[in-house]
Amino acid sequence: MDLLIIILGLLIGSFLNVCIYRIPCGESIIYPGSRCTLCGTKLKPLELVPVFSFVFLKGRCQHCGQPISWRYPAVELLTVLLIWLVYRRYGIGLAAIYYALLTCILIVAAFIDMEHQIIPDGLVLIGCVTGLAFNLMGISINFLDGLYGLIIGAGSLLLVAVFSLFVFRKEGIGGGDIKFMATIGLYLGWRLTVFALILSVYIGGVVSLLLLIFKIKRRGDYIPYGPFIAIGSFIAMLYGESIINWYILSFW
Ligand SMILES: [Zn+2]
Repeated sequence: MDLLIIILGLLIGSFLNVCIYRIPCGESIIYPGSRCTLCGTKLKPLELVPVFSFVFLKGRCQHCGQPISWRYPAVELLTVLLIWLVYRRYGIGLAAIYYALLTCILIVAAFIDMEHQIIPDGLVLIGCVTGLAFNLMGISINFLDGLYGLIIGAGSLLLVAVFSLFVFRKEGIGGGDIKFMATIGLYLGWRLTVFALILSVYIGGVVSLLLLIFKIKRRGDYIPYGPFIAIGSFIAMLYGESIINWYILSFW
């Protein structure tokens, strides 16, 4: 079974690469087939095998010789790992599909945000529609819990955005982040949404500090918040319940 999940993860990762590249450009994610993003040559099946093609082609396009972005194999490997973790946690079934779908949305949003500093409305819409559909069917969480998650998730970020606009006179949180958090809230329910938000603040703080210390970013540079929301949400999705229960038992 694990091998099957790994192959499936690689294929999904390959599709997520297409989404990450094409959604911000407003291109269709289904048609046409994959091309080299540098010279536009249509790629043959052998050049499209996830991860392996990148290794065999030594990271360069066979046609134009230009280097292929490290992002492609990285997204594929990351997707395999995360999908496998979802499988380990939720097994096979509708709940696993539900969380795998959220995982895909998190990956695509994080990488698009890192590169373009936006979280596309189309992606948010897909997330809301699928999340709502699953909630109405009562898979994993119920409709009301999803609704509370949406309100708490989007509401907290909206408050932060309004606060930083009035107090610091600059945009601390973008509209994309707020909509992204609404989708996640719908998927996770209110408890895990609160947990994901708290985690994202801590992870964002630590990573931003490291980026400043190692001089990768300078003070005042823009650091996208979407990836931190994505990491926090993924951890909340897999381990949130256990961590919350452990916390309550240990401290209360
Ligand atoms: Zn090329």
